[in-house]
Amino acid sequence: MHLFTLNETLDGHLQQVRAQQQRVAFVPTMGALHEGHLSLLSLARKRAGCSLCSVFVNPTQFDRQGDLDAYPRMLERDARLLEQAKCDVLFVPSVEQVYPEGLDTKVSLSLGEMDQVMEGRFRPGHFTGMLQVVKRLLDLTRPDELIMGQKDFQQFTLVAAMIRQLKLPCQLVVAATVREADGLAMSSRNLRLTPEFRAKAPAIYKCLQNIRQSYGTRAPETLALAGMQELERAGLRPEYLNIVDGESLADVRNHEPHDCVVACVAAWAGEVRLIDNLILKGQLP
Ligand code: AMP
Repeated sequence: MHLFTLNETLDGHLQQVRAQQQRVAFVPTMGALHEGHLSLLSLARKRAGCSLCSVFVNPTQFDRQGDLDAYPRMLERDARLLEQAKCDVLFVPSVEQVYPEGLDTKVSLSLGEMDQVMEGRFRPGHFTGMLQVVKRLLDLTRPDELIMGQKDFQQFTLVAAMIRQLKLPCQLVVAATVREADGLAMSSRNLRLTPEFRAKAPAIYKCLQNIRQSYGTRAPETLALAGMQELERAGLRPEYLNIVDGESLADVRNHEPHDCVVACVAAWAGEVRLIDNLILKGQLP
C-alpha cells in the first residue's frame, strides 16, 4: 500500500496509475475504520484496478467543536487494517493540504430543501462542510468511481445531486450498511458508547424494522410518531424519524406515488448521536 500525505505526491502516483489504463475507485473516510468502511474498500477493489482510501477528519462539517475534538483518531491502526485489506493507496492529507490558504473551496448548489431537512435541521452547516470536503477530495483525486455507504442516506443523496449539478466526471456507487450481529449499524461513533447505551442502541434498527413491517397499513406520519415513542421507551432520545422519498427527501404523506421510500432516524444514546435508515419500499434510487 502506498501512503501519501501531500497532494503533489498523490497526484504523481495517480498519473502513473492512469497511464497504465487503470481505473481509480475512491473511498473517503474520517478514519476509526470498521467493517463498514472495509466493505466499501472491498467494493472499490472489485470495481477498479486502483483502490484509493482517504482518512481525513474534516473540521468544516462538525457543527459542535466538542464532537470534532471527541472524534476517534487512530491512524496507525487504520493504516494497518487497510494494508491487510489490500488497499492500493491511502491518502492522509493535513488540513492545510485540503484547505490551502487563499483557495476558495466553497461549493454552491441549488439543493432546495434537501440539505435543510433531517441532518440539515439538527446539524446546521454540516452538509455545507461535507459537500465542500467531498468536492475538494474529488478535485484532488479525480476518481472514476466514488464509493459511499447507504448508512449516511442524506449524505450520498446530496453528493449525487452535486455530481449531477456540477457534471463531475465520476460515478457514485452506494454500498449497503454493515451491521453488528444485533443490528446496530457500524459507526466510528459506537466506540464512544457506554456499555449501558451500547445495549440500548440496537433499538434503533429494531424500530426501523417494525416500521418496515407496518408500512402500508397506517399513515407514514403515524408510523413515524410511533417509532419516536418506541425509541424513547428504549431509553434513547430521538431527534427525528422521517419517512421520506428516497430521491427528494421530502416527507411521504401517502404510500402510493413513490418509487423509493426510506425511514431515516437520528437518536442520542447517552452522549453519542447515532443515525440509521432503512428502505421501506423500492430500491436505492
Ligand atoms: P465516515 O468515516 O463515517 O465519514 O464514513 C465514511 C464512509 O463509510 C461513508 O460513505 C459512510 O456512509 C460509510 N459507512 C459508515 N458506516 C458504514 C456502515 N456501517 N456500513 C457501510 N458503510 C458505512
